Amino acid sequence: MGTKIVSVSTTPKSLSKKQRVLEILVRLKHLYPDAVCSLNYSTPVQLLVATILSAQCTDERVNKVTPALFARFPDAASLAIADLVELENLVRSTGFYRNKAKNIQAACRMIVAEFDSVVPNQMPQLLQLPGVARKTANVVLAHAYGINAGVTVDTHVKRLSQRLGLTENPDPTRIEKDLMELLPQTDWENWSIRLIYHGRAICKARSPNCEACQLADLCPSGLSTQK
Ligand code: SF4
Repeated sequence: MGTKIVSVSTTPKSLSKKQRVLEILVRLKHLYPDAVCSLNYSTPVQLLVATILSAQCTDERVNKVTPALFARFPDAASLAIADLVELENLVRSTGFYRNKAKNIQAACRMIVAEFDSVVPNQMPQLLQLPGVARKTANVVLAHAYGINAGVTVDTHVKRLSQRLGLTENPDPTRIEKDLMELLPQTDWENWSIRLIYHGRAICKARSPNCEACQLADLCPSGLSTQK
């Protein structure tokens, strides 16, 4: 975290919201040059499953569960016919396991029946899958297919985008829309993945470390959020 940041040419307060978001993006890329999706997976189906499991759960916990899960059920075909109780037990520690197991199986059945066993690479089809909303669809499209179809808004992206004064909306879909208007499309996933890193490292939910934050001069919350 000792990396030097790129300095803005004008004072941060004089920047428009759009200029500010682009400067934040530059700094995030500099701070987290190698940011990647933290979930472990080998195929688009496995990424879809891991992302469904990551709801209300840490990626670290999901990564502890998926090796045994994918060893037993490696693809959509095997997940589609898995014994539901066995599937529930394999994902139990990620929380909300009954619902997650049910959605994973239903999504895999649809992938097998309607999409030739291949996870679709378009937003409308992905959103047809049980348990898949825009957040999951964005992660799959970005990391499995390299398609920037939207901005992934998870709990970190929501919190930091609000603290950074880039949205006043509480609803993830509207936050995503606000961010899509501010950011270049090629950077939609760059934004999310790096903001998640910053949320984990510095701008934590309960105790943001504003004094150590390299975005502090661009952040209207700044030290006022410090407890
Ligand atoms: S200055 Fe504080 S509130 Fe703003 S992004 Fe940094 S840690 Fe978060």
